[in-house]
Amino acid sequence: MFGYREMKILMLGLDNAGKTTILYKLKLNKIKTSAPTVGFNVETVSFRNVKFNMWDVGGQDRLRPLWRHYFPATTALIFVLDSQDTERLNEAKEELYSIISDKEMEDVVLLVLANKQDLKGAMSPQKISDFLELKDHLNNQLWCVIGSNALTGQGLVEGLSWITNNTN
Ligand code: GDP
Repeated sequence: MFGYREMKILMLGLDNAGKTTILYKLKLNKIKTSAPTVGFNVETVSFRNVKFNMWDVGGQDRLRPLWRHYFPATTALIFVLDSQDTERLNEAKEELYSIISDKEMEDVVLLVLANKQDLKGAMSPQKISDFLELKDHLNNQLWCVIGSNALTGQGLVEGLSWITNNTN
């Protein structure tokens, strides 16, 4: 097919951030209720002329050491944050930095989804962006913070468009 391409997207974040909900909202446009991901879910999502192979890997702390096994051949990282869970924002930031400082991940584009924007007290994408200090730490890597609501799908297409527009 003309201009058709395929890429691997890795979706990571703390448990309960909304990763699995995002994956199935994109895949089926419906909400799938699921038990916490143990291991991973992988689905292909076609969008415009791109076939995204999306990997959603469990985020519970005992599973995080396994994340790096999923790094090879990743084009884009979607890091999902629960914007209301301000107590664990620091923990999320640490995990994010540990991922992007890995050699395997130095060329990936980074989309941070500031998810659960619908919840009361959710931090804005701008505030989350400031908190993460990506501007100060990422010199060569493309990154972007977008607000999302996985239940309605708001922000998800915008996020995939950003990835599509910023990768080859
Ligand atoms: P995961 O552990 O990152 O895969 O998180 P899940 O996708 O299992 O979501 C955890 C919980 O948050 C579930 O109860 C979801 O329904 C809920 N959730 C996910 N995204 C949103 C959102 O944008 N807004 C609200 N209000 N709830 C969400």
